[in-house]
Amino acid sequence: MRYVSTRDKNIGASAQEAIARGLAPGGGLYAPEALPCNRNFWKSLIGKSYAERTAAVMGQFLDGFGPGDLETFARRAYESGRFDAEGAAPLRTLPNGLHVLELWHGPTAAFKDMALQILPHLLTASLKVCGEQREALILTATSGDTGKAALEGFRDVPGTRVLVFFPRHGVSLIQELQMTTQEGANVGVVAVRGNFDDAQTGVKKLFGDPALSERIDKRGLFFSSANSINLGRLIPQVAYYFSAYADMVGQEAIAAGQPIHICVPTGNFGNILSALYAWDMGLPVSRLLCASNRNNVLTDFVREGVYDRRRTFYSTMSPSMDILVSSNLERALFLLSGGSDVLTRDCMESLREIGRYTLPKTLWQVFRQRFYADWCGEGETRRTIASLWKEIRYLSDPHTAVAFHAAGAYREETGDKTPILVVSTASPYKFCDAVLTALGETPAGDGEAPLEQLHALTGWPVPESLRGLSKKPVRFDRTVTPEGMEQAVWEMVGA
Ligand SMILES: *Cc1c(COP(=O)(O)O)cnc(C)c1O
Repeated sequence: MRYVSTRDKNIGASAQEAIARGLAPGGGLYAPEALPCNRNFWKSLIGKSYAERTAAVMGQFLDGFGPGDLETFARRAYESGRFDAEGAAPLRTLPNGLHVLELWHGPTAAFKDMALQILPHLLTASLKVCGEQREALILTATSGDTGKAALEGFRDVPGTRVLVFFPRHGVSLIQELQMTTQEGANVGVVAVRGNFDDAQTGVKKLFGDPALSERIDKRGLFFSSANSINLGRLIPQVAYYFSAYADMVGQEAIAAGQPIHICVPTGNFGNILSALYAWDMGLPVSRLLCASNRNNVLTDFVREGVYDRRRTFYSTMSPSMDILVSSNLERALFLLSGGSDVLTRDCMESLREIGRYTLPKTLWQVFRQRFYADWCGEGETRRTIASLWKEIRYLSDPHTAVAFHAAGAYREETGDKTPILVVSTASPYKFCDAVLTALGETPAGDGEAPLEQLHALTGWPVPESLRGLSKKPVRFDRTVTPEGMEQAVWEMVGA
């Protein structure tokens, strides 16, 4: 399959080139030139392991690797004991036609592991195919979960270094500890004064600075990305939607071919975009429910056809969704406009220059048909966590609770009883304080105590990787201004 830039279809790349480069030249994102569609593809996945399913789905997108390579990568990622659930992405069936896809059984307890455990294999193999001799310096801005998952995925991977920037006051205590105590000889972690968008804008500037690229090239390195703008993040994510559907049919929760809705707690639009790709590849989906927290730019976008980032930024208890510029929406624009690079480029230029863009009416109709969008504030998020626990004994993290809330709002508004697959993106233990507070408890101080407190209250198992964090030595304690990010790169390069 060929990939083209969303802003200029004349810029093409192989899968390996797209994965190695991250961003397309000129600032666009690489997107499939055309998606293969097969309404029966999901059937071939029933009875297969998660690794086999992933290899099969990735095989629809990625040619140019050696025979059997994709399956080898998938086995290394999902079957080497780093996931604490059989099947890596288990499905739970709840009452009332609700199903939960739990994507947080990996080493960092959030859904980013699903892609970032396999991305290092895809990236290093891609570099080899491209004949790249230089070392990849992976720059990542994180709202909390990507950073840790990237560090964990790439630690001590030969031929790579990882530098993570996180917003100083924008992540949970556990998220911060997970990153600042990271082990590995090829990793760096730096806090940035500002919010996630400041950190992300800073990283985009570093990527876009030709003089800087030239200088690091002289030292035998080049910039690469582990953010969800990288295709190598999106493609493994398509796999779990197919896998979940195969499980739903396999467990006789739905009839074969019966359409479902998928409800995704959304930030940078990467997860829900993967669901859109799965849908266009023939998965029986009838609606995507896009759930936001108080940073509800996407809700307004779907409802009004106007994307407007000129608004107040809120720090919430679901920090991985505290985003005003959802990068992967660009790929959805490209796909749903029928591959119009002109339209996509115009929208993105307008967003950069005046902070907003308006969809043409026909395209807005397409978005409204395929997406429903809703948001909820902090109080509703807490109430949802509490009622899920009280009524059905399901323990939800704040991000997932935002999705449950949107699923409920959709049902109430439409009366539609179609089964809904709710995507659960983080372990409740990763946001322990918020969950305890929602359940009416007072978190018992710092360190491990809240984890044990939540465990005592609910009996839910604590992810092994979160235990013992507060006893690990802090290796990284630097804070820089956005202007200081370049200096941090130099230190990573060793200059
Ligand atoms: C990253 C993340 C999200 C948002 O996913 P996007 O792909 O950026 O839309 C939601 N929840 C959690 C827990 C996350 O880590």
